[in-house]
Amino acid sequence: MLICPKCLAFGKPRVSPHKASVRRIVSCKMSRAVSSSDSGFFQKPPVLTNQFTSDPHLGRILNLYVSHSVQQKAIPEFKSLGDIVVSEKISRLIENAERELPYVVQYDEWGRRIDKLVTSEGWRGMKVIACENGLVADGYDNEKWQGQGRLVQFIKVYLFNPSSATFTCPLSMTDGAAQILSRDPAFKEIFARLVSRDVSEMWTSGQWMTERTGGSDVSRTETQATKTSSGYSITGFKFFSSATDSDMALLLAQTPPSGLSLFYAPLRTASGQGFNGVRIHRLKNKLGTRPLPTAELELRDMKGELVGKEGCGVKNISSVLNITRCWNAISSISGAQRAWNIASAYAAERTVFGTQLNLLPTHLSLLSSMNLMLRGLTHLAFHTILFLGSGDVLLRLFAAVAKAYCAKKTIEIVSECLEACGGQGYMEETSLPRLYRDSQVLSIWEGTTNVLSSDVVKTIPKLVTELFAWAEKKGVRREMEEYLSRFDGMDQVVRFTRAREISFELAELLVWALVKEDAEREDAGVFERECLLYWKSARPQVETGSQAQDRAKIDYEIVYGRNPEYRHSRL
Ligand SMILES: Cc1cc2nc3c(=O)[nH]c(=O)nc-3n(C[C@H](O)[C@H](O)[C@H](O)COP(=O)(O)OP(=O)(O)OC[C@H]3O[C@@H](n4cnc5c(N)ncnc54)[C@H](O)[C@@H]3O)c2cc1C
Repeated sequence: MLICPKCLAFGKPRVSPHKASVRRIVSCKMSRAVSSSDSGFFQKPPVLTNQFTSDPHLGRILNLYVSHSVQQKAIPEFKSLGDIVVSEKISRLIENAERELPYVVQYDEWGRRIDKLVTSEGWRGMKVIACENGLVADGYDNEKWQGQGRLVQFIKVYLFNPSSATFTCPLSMTDGAAQILSRDPAFKEIFARLVSRDVSEMWTSGQWMTERTGGSDVSRTETQATKTSSGYSITGFKFFSSATDSDMALLLAQTPPSGLSLFYAPLRTASGQGFNGVRIHRLKNKLGTRPLPTAELELRDMKGELVGKEGCGVKNISSVLNITRCWNAISSISGAQRAWNIASAYAAERTVFGTQLNLLPTHLSLLSSMNLMLRGLTHLAFHTILFLGSGDVLLRLFAAVAKAYCAKKTIEIVSECLEACGGQGYMEETSLPRLYRDSQVLSIWEGTTNVLSSDVVKTIPKLVTELFAWAEKKGVRREMEEYLSRFDGMDQVVRFTRAREISFELAELLVWALVKEDAEREDAGVFERECLLYWKSARPQVETGSQAQDRAKIDYEIVYGRNPEYRHSRL
């Protein structure tokens, strides 16, 4: 029996009025061409358009949170970056950065130790794009962005990240360093370099915490700093230091007897000749983020300056982590969104069983539910950005929850999108394997899921009043009461045993509050209402009977309704 794809797609009986579609299948069966290496069928490649104008979530976020006057100024910059990130030029930079991996020349011709780190042109090119587009600078430019610089900055981070060959890693650490150094006038010149819009001036920063003894638990740090007449001398071994090509680092070291302290240290000596007491022990051999030079470093008498007070290292680095976790949350959702964009563009071009892939209800339902999931994650991540610089104590909790939840969901979404492109999804040329590999680290660095969840469990009791106030404003006080009363009923052992569930449940409650608020706005449409249904129970209710009849139509609208053009740029 012949099945009409149009009828199948929209859940109607198989006796079809769509004769034309049926005839097409018949004729297709009768005249099958013989293929050769250069004749027969070739799949039309999926194409991505401007990543700002074609993204329905970004437009919504912009309208919700950014004032009209700032939008007027920012939109041309977003559009320009939206084009850059799908341009031929950036594709070449990514390819180059992924092919020509960083390496270290340990000795010169005469056997002298030099530890010269060589990075690719593609990797270095990313710094130029980042700097010219103000990826760090915008967050601090309150004059230009009328106090909304953080939102403008993170919309740019969202656009840039999936095409950055993970250059957003050093950028996030640079932002964290800029934020903490901005508090101390002694670091005024360093701060100016970190937020510079001039690539010849701009510095990037590393963040060296993890040692062989541990990254989650830095209390066993072995690196020591000793006070000298001109500052501190730092000696020890750092096990993970990404962006080894940076100009400076913030690092933790023991200052007995006061404990762990935070230090600023330039990587090179004042003359610019040679390292400031740093030896590159070796570069890491990683699953992903391969263009990013991550190294093990030996420090011998590295000259550094104390940031804050002795013994306050963990407290000081925590404020840096709030920033890098925000970067991580936004980078997560942007990677997932890019993977989804590729999968939906592919489905629009691919034909299976005589019909377009994006008309098959099963496939459409998958794309649609991932898109609704992404809308919720986008709300959570960008809402967290609102707390940056606001002095709101909820920042720590939101940053931990958003980082942990968005990272985990991203790994899931990218994996699904890879499968959604069939065998081609597994091929490097589609970018999906790169996005997949790179997504795995998002749940590890800046705090693993367990570590963040444990932090959430520890933080909740300190922020009950603030959580209630937030929930009250969002109209979900009852739900928050239920959540907190269940939390209250658990003893410490249960709380830590169930820390992940507690943390993820909080994430889902926060998302639910945000999508509910969005769906209640006057201009809310089918997307916002469907999003509300999806997040009501974190998963859509299984529909039966007549409801299911309309499902494919709604799914199509969710997947393609506001994003119909995929014609300009090749992947
Ligand atoms: C590509 C890459 C780049 C990196 N770059 C940097 C960098 O630039 N600077 C830097 O400082 N670090 C960097 N890291 C290190 C990273 O931050 C750490 O790997 C991470 O914090 C985990 O620490 P660990 O590796 O010591 O694992 P461990 O701390 O040993 O963790 C092992 C497991 O134990 C679990 N665990 C730990 N503590 C708890 C707890 N209290 N409760 C429950 N479970 C727990 C963790 O969730 C994890 O699953 C990088 C890592 C990678 C992969």
